[in-house]
Amino acid sequence: MKQTNFEVSLQAELDALREAGLFRSLRTVDSAQGPVISIGGKEYLNFSSNDYLGLANHPRLRAAARAAIESFGVGAGASRLVCGNSRCYDLLEAALAEFKRKEAAIVFSSGYAANVGTICALVGEGDTVIIDKLCHASIIDGCRQSGATLRIYPHKNLKKLEDLLQQARGASKKGVSQASVLVITETVYSMDGDLAPLPEIVELKDRYDAWLMIDEAHAAGIFGRHGRGVAEHFAVEDRVEVTLGTLSKALACVGGYIAGSRTLIDYLRNKARSLIYSTALPPSMCAAGAEAVRLVMSDEARVRREVLWRNVQQMKDGLAKQGISAVTESAILPILVGGEEAALGISQRLFERGMFVSAIRYPTVAKGKARLRVTMTAAHTGDHIERFLENARQAWNASGS
Ligand SMILES: *Cc1c(COP(=O)(O)O)cnc(C)c1O
Repeated sequence: MKQTNFEVSLQAELDALREAGLFRSLRTVDSAQGPVISIGGKEYLNFSSNDYLGLANHPRLRAAARAAIESFGVGAGASRLVCGNSRCYDLLEAALAEFKRKEAAIVFSSGYAANVGTICALVGEGDTVIIDKLCHASIIDGCRQSGATLRIYPHKNLKKLEDLLQQARGASKKGVSQASVLVITETVYSMDGDLAPLPEIVELKDRYDAWLMIDEAHAAGIFGRHGRGVAEHFAVEDRVEVTLGTLSKALACVGGYIAGSRTLIDYLRNKARSLIYSTALPPSMCAAGAEAVRLVMSDEARVRREVLWRNVQQMKDGLAKQGISAVTESAILPILVGGEEAALGISQRLFERGMFVSAIRYPTVAKGKARLRVTMTAAHTGDHIERFLENARQAWNASGS
């Protein structure tokens, strides 16, 4: 059939992506998430998921979801402010507030929606929002939509952050007293696996009377003595105005949340458009999420965290022995390759050997900074890791990089 101009134009862009090694496609998984997944009738060791504590297929979470389906059915029916606010939401938000030791918490349908909705609710035209260059797309999209002046500092560059704070305080259109200045940082950088210098950022935002929002997507559940995140790890929780987390990574469900003061949470319930104008999560997901929160606060999770950090160490040491460098402070081990095609090639060779590790490319990371992103979970065994290392050596040797 003849292509219309519309399709010719889209096809040209797709061809350009393919040529640049940037074309994306989906791989269909036929099993539950876990350290071993099934794709196309074959089993693969999975080093790509953010299911850090290995809870995605946990019997307690499955039972909680199943029981809620029996009681509450499947769909939420409407947005939370209309009739979708199931009892399961109240229980989940209470559990999250207790876990994060905050007055209150509010749940969105995803971490993406939580970032966009919250940032747009907190700042607007005339305000300034200051973010790290490597912040997640959902933070950037929220900042752009908000209409606030967006300022970006080079990754973890505190001197530049201070310059931007100074400028924002000096030059705001609303005048010093009214304009809001919001600093946003991830606590674990999702594609680099390093930590934000949180104590220093807290000092700076206090000095310039700014607010701080932290995104603990890759930290909640695994950092800090009680698993509350990097803010707990650095003992600065009480000095952060807005804390975002997700139910989708270590908590192994889906959803995003903000924890903070009761005033903040009341405000977001009234102002966050991604919450108001989107259908509520299904009750079963809230019930599974609440069970995940309880689990993350239990001794079982403490043990799982110990296993996770042991696994990270084993993988890091094993890679280093083969001359493959993965610098990390978290459960994310980025192995820098550089070229998009080269990263795809290594990922493909690993796949042929039964190892599932995605190549991360532009625009998720900068051009020429393509990488393999190996993520570790508590569900990996020592044997899984050894098998990966054995195959990694061969995949890298064949690539010549
Ligand atoms: C994954 C992620 C999000 C989005 O969370 P979802 O629940 O997957 O929508 C937000 N921020 C960061 C830093 C993330 O890595």
